[in-house]
Amino acid sequence: MTSHRVHNFCAGPCTLPINVIDELANELANFNDSGMSLIEMSHRSEAYDQVHNETIDLLRRLCKVPDEFSILLLQGGASLQFAMLPMNLLQPNESAGYIVSGTWGKKAFGDAKLIGNAYEAWSGANNDFASMPDPTELTIQSGTRYLHITSNETIGGIRLPAFFSTDVRQVADMSSDYLTRDIPWDQFDVVYGGAQKNLGPAGLTVVFVRKTVADAAPNTVPAYLRYATHAVANSLANTPPVFSIWATGKVLRWIEENGGVAGMENRAATRSQMLYDAIDNSNGFYQSPVNPDHRSHVNIVFRLGSEELEKDFLAEATQHDLMNLKGHRSVGGIRASIYNALPTESVESLLEFMSTFANGRG
Ligand SMILES: *Cc1c(COP(=O)(O)O)cnc(C)c1O
Repeated sequence: MTSHRVHNFCAGPCTLPINVIDELANELANFNDSGMSLIEMSHRSEAYDQVHNETIDLLRRLCKVPDEFSILLLQGGASLQFAMLPMNLLQPNESAGYIVSGTWGKKAFGDAKLIGNAYEAWSGANNDFASMPDPTELTIQSGTRYLHITSNETIGGIRLPAFFSTDVRQVADMSSDYLTRDIPWDQFDVVYGGAQKNLGPAGLTVVFVRKTVADAAPNTVPAYLRYATHAVANSLANTPPVFSIWATGKVLRWIEENGGVAGMENRAATRSQMLYDAIDNSNGFYQSPVNPDHRSHVNIVFRLGSEELEKDFLAEATQHDLMNLKGHRSVGGIRASIYNALPTESVESLLEFMSTFANGRG
């Protein structure tokens, strides 16, 4: 049904499986013979209820979420969680440690400071955010309520190679590496992320929150910003982002059919390694600016010899249908985002182009 598709390396919103796009198109006008679209229907209808709960069930199954956690389908992106999380977790006499590992960790820290006592448990600013901390480098003060981590920094292209094991509970922004690795739930109170990188279209934020933590929020938090409000209402406290939840459910089913989280983890490791090998074996034509031990499996950042050459690279890539390879405007360079649903043939096409381009210019 869908004809021309490019290789889309967009960092977010991301490429979705083509069969999911086709299914959405086919089912859009007349959902399950109801004579109306799902996006025109009441979110209290039986038809929608099924879609809603199926998405939640898939998340619980795929991420092996224990009963102690609620799964919330919210709006406002990961960005709203930068504020909502400290509002719910921090009591006036407590503090929170933040790992400032890049653009996103820094933003999370910025909002937390506005809400309570937050401090930097580690900063990567002096190494240009080119690496993640070693567990021995963390400074966790006494009286710390939680440690905030960003498991994959989408802009810098770095990834925490393994989750920390800490005495204080952790909270994680997993926006860009959702469902690419298992989560050690006993270490965490909250895990959150926008759906639009690895799970589906924009408009949905998936939050996993420990039930006892949701229930313990300070009573000054407004109703809509309380995790407990959404947990009690099964994420139907108000009108949810119906389309995103529907589409995400379909992507989750696709993930399940393709090996689940282990399948996605493998896929990301293998495909990113192919790209890093091409970079490392290019005699310096392509260069990775990040610590080899902390290279992201989903956002592959690299540089060429000059900005001029990078411009040419991007322009020629576009002619080969290799789209959205420009690095984030704050750092420049090239970034290939290869999230869960990106077809492997897109990575292969990029590799082929990188080789041809380097041979022509090298
Ligand atoms: C994209 C991204 C965000 C921002 O997400 P929104 O859903 O657009 O608010 C936050 N954190 C990380 C790690 C991201 O990749």
